[in-house]
Amino acid sequence: MRIAFSSWPEIDARLKSQSPLARTVVVPIGSNEQHGPTGLLGTDWLCPEIIALAAESANEAITVAPTFNIGMAQHHLAFPGTITLRPSTFMAAIGDWVSSLTRHGFERIYFLNGHGGNVASIEAAFAEIYAEWSYADERAPFMLKLRNWWDLPGVTDFCNRMFPEGHGMHATPSEIAVTQAGYPDSIKRASYSPRIAPIGPIRDAHDYRARFPDGRIGSDPDLASPEKGQQIIDKAVPALDADLTAFAAEQQP
Ligand SMILES: [Zn+2]
Repeated sequence: MRIAFSSWPEIDARLKSQSPLARTVVVPIGSNEQHGPTGLLGTDWLCPEIIALAAESANEAITVAPTFNIGMAQHHLAFPGTITLRPSTFMAAIGDWVSSLTRHGFERIYFLNGHGGNVASIEAAFAEIYAEWSYADERAPFMLKLRNWWDLPGVTDFCNRMFPEGHGMHATPSEIAVTQAGYPDSIKRASYSPRIAPIGPIRDAHDYRARFPDGRIGSDPDLASPEKGQQIIDKAVPALDADLTAFAAEQQP
């Protein structure tokens, strides 16, 4: 069930149902930021959305929220099309999403993330949310979980075997491949120089553009193909289903 394509009585009925996943919701979360000369700006929110919706297509018991598609990407701001929230805004927005979803009875909020730069802020947002309950000496009536899509069990190993060199850290062939499988009409090609991009630390936007002139870090996106992307999606979908089922079954001590 997709929240955006449901009516409120349908969500209400889902929340009151006996399904093991009734009160669990997946929030695809990512970033709209440059992904090298050929990667889609939406790559980091498209990947978790593609995987979450594929899992929902295979198992209608999974509820998927609208995609949280702007994240913490200040270091990509020297590239046009990038949109970022500062960490404090991003964390506040995550808090409001959680408050909205839990108000109606969702008890397990599962953030399926597509952007490494979001991780620290999402974890900090979770701590801010839990802190309110801890100060109040009350038990939070919900649990939060962050899972990067590439950290779904078995997926990173699968991608590393598929791309033994040139995977890199940004505009990786695995994430580019997933978007190619999801949106084959939007595939872009170019020749890259150097073929494998440099690596280095991530700081501010000027520093980033000077170190990584075309936006990639350590990657060769030319290795991507829609067929490989579909294989990655096919690997991720059952792993997500199993991860959600286990999260939904977690008991509060
Ligand atoms: Zn990315």
